Amino acid sequence: MNGTPPKRVIIFPGGILSGGPAVVFFIALVCSPAPAADLGRPREQTPAAVEARLKETVGYLASDELRGRSPGTKEIDLAADYIVKRMTGIGLKTDLFQGTPFQHFRARVRNFQAENRSHWPGLLDYVGRRVYDMHRRQNGSSPARPAVKEAAPFPSGPVEMKNVVAMLEGAGPLAEETIVVGAHYDHLGVQKNLAGQWEIYNGANDNASGVAVMLETAEILARRPKRLPRRVVFVAFSGEESGLLGSFHYVSDPPVPLEKTIAMINLDMVGSLQGEMLIALGTSTSSRLAKLANRSAKRHQLRLLKIPFVLAGSDHVPFYAHRVPVVFFVTRGGRADYHRPTDDPEKLNYPGMRRIAAVTADLASALAEADRRPEFAKDGPISILVRYALRLWSRISGN
Ligand SMILES: [Zn+2]
Repeated sequence: MNGTPPKRVIIFPGGILSGGPAVVFFIALVCSPAPAADLGRPREQTPAAVEARLKETVGYLASDELRGRSPGTKEIDLAADYIVKRMTGIGLKTDLFQGTPFQHFRARVRNFQAENRSHWPGLLDYVGRRVYDMHRRQNGSSPARPAVKEAAPFPSGPVEMKNVVAMLEGAGPLAEETIVVGAHYDHLGVQKNLAGQWEIYNGANDNASGVAVMLETAEILARRPKRLPRRVVFVAFSGEESGLLGSFHYVSDPPVPLEKTIAMINLDMVGSLQGEMLIALGTSTSSRLAKLANRSAKRHQLRLLKIPFVLAGSDHVPFYAHRVPVVFFVTRGGRADYHRPTDDPEKLNYPGMRRIAAVTADLASALAEADRRPEFAKDGPISILVRYALRLWSRISGN
């Protein structure tokens, strides 16, 4: 809070808000065009109902209407409002930053358009897709998509960005200790291909799927009859595609102390489960966390492919840089559509996402109920150097 006495106090499900930002946030919440999130009513939990909810979330976040959720656009703000509506509907605490769930920061968006244009892989990718599209048109499997309105001129300077943060408070002596469950909600926006056509990068698997699974995890945990012994914080990060900007910002100004953050579970591209195998990266950061993750996967008949490597570019990396044990859940499929306009909702495996949400909730509960927190693994000089370099980089890049 910034210390000035609140002008007005508003009470609504899930929190007390005060002053100007509260009013703006409340109006935005009520008036935003996103699908209605049934505030406060118990939601159905049958597999079919859960999959329908996951489909609705991905369907909206990865819709053409949200135009690929590029930071600095009004469309990404619609995505943020929808996520808040869902978090509020689940009953999470959302009044963390001056009465709102928005952790604001300013940073530069990466210009993918220029990058694509400047290097030959972009050219190869383009040719590959044209051949692929021709083939799909010939066998009638690619419905004509409406022409896409061109993108706004690329922002020359830093733009406003915001993480969306909410929490499920713990109860008891360990209530200050925290588990972070995170997923980025930004993507690549609208870009012109080499034929001069504008295309929407819908980002269904990357990463509407992660946001949907994070919200479903919150649903499962919030529905528990008894409060968990430790706190769980849910974060939708922005700016991930432009260099983990949101997660670097979060660790530089955490709403709860990082020393009290006992683990971070990152969900990125969890929409294309193949068979029973779920990939878990970063397991070298804590053997105890890796063991718990393995048990949770087994409890839901999934096989965990544990990969010790931690520096896979996603939002767990800044937490690792600050010695927080991490696990990064990702699925194997969907590579053909990675960072392409073809990453669409109809390609995702929703039963698979439902199971990954169950595993994530299981792991978060196991961490919250554990008698002791997972230790960060002792590591060699190289890892220490890498972490130091990451922290230095985040400071230099202004995050
Ligand atoms: Zn991603």
